[in-house]
Amino acid sequence: MMMSVLDNLCIVMVQTSHPGNIGAAARAMKTMGVSDLRLVQPKDFNSPQTKAMASGADSILESAKHTATLHEALADCQIVIGTSARSERSLAWPQLVARECGEFVASQLTGQKVALVFGRERTGLTNEELAQCQYLTHIPMAVDYYSLNIAAAIQLYCYECSQAVRALDALPNVQVEGLGEPLATGAQLEGLYEHLEQTLVEVRYLDPDNPRLLMSRLRRLFGRTHLTQSELNILRGILAAFQGRKFRPRV
Ligand code: SAH
Repeated sequence: MMMSVLDNLCIVMVQTSHPGNIGAAARAMKTMGVSDLRLVQPKDFNSPQTKAMASGADSILESAKHTATLHEALADCQIVIGTSARSERSLAWPQLVARECGEFVASQLTGQKVALVFGRERTGLTNEELAQCQYLTHIPMAVDYYSLNIAAAIQLYCYECSQAVRALDALPNVQVEGLGEPLATGAQLEGLYEHLEQTLVEVRYLDPDNPRLLMSRLRRLFGRTHLTQSELNILRGILAAFQGRKFRPRV
């Protein structure tokens, strides 16, 4: 198989309950040239239904990574996009419709990992999980209060991403967005948010008994800026200085 930037796209499925949906998702991915599947605590992924629905996409199932938490699944990802059947949310978050999402993903795939996160069949993603995403996306539907089957949603996103990658490839000398420096990963961002929260509590800006939406707002702010690793290290250095400590980034 030829290397493609689509190798940098990962599909994350959180606590999927129907084993058939995991198989159908693997098939949807394979048809579009996407292969990195990550499963966060699936209920059952080894049943005959999974294999039957995968219909030849077994290699994707076999190489799928299993993690206990969404944090772990996203640890090496620089851009994280959460999918949701509905677009409203208590705190407005940067939103992309599926087509824009494909174009944005295609522009970000060179040299870094992009994750698309899919929720539970019945309840979608929790607020805590959505807070780990820098963007939210949805497929506009003709009916309210309804949703797509998760594998159908994965099919559509993989299609949009693969079409957008093709469109970019067809352009001569496209300038891919970026500063030429690596962006912070999910794990580094979580480290920053934890450090920030701790420091804000210490300086009594954040009341842990009444945190309101402060951390969510800060996540939204930093999510919009696409911090590079060196910028993130500066921020952590500043936080450590406030705390009278030293911050040494792990390399
Ligand atoms: N009641 C849940 C429905 C979950 S559907 C909710 O409102 O979130 C299961 C998953 O399929 C979702 O978490 C999402 O990942 C995907 N999905 C379903 N419909 C979608 C849509 N219109 N746009 C984007 N993703 C969708």
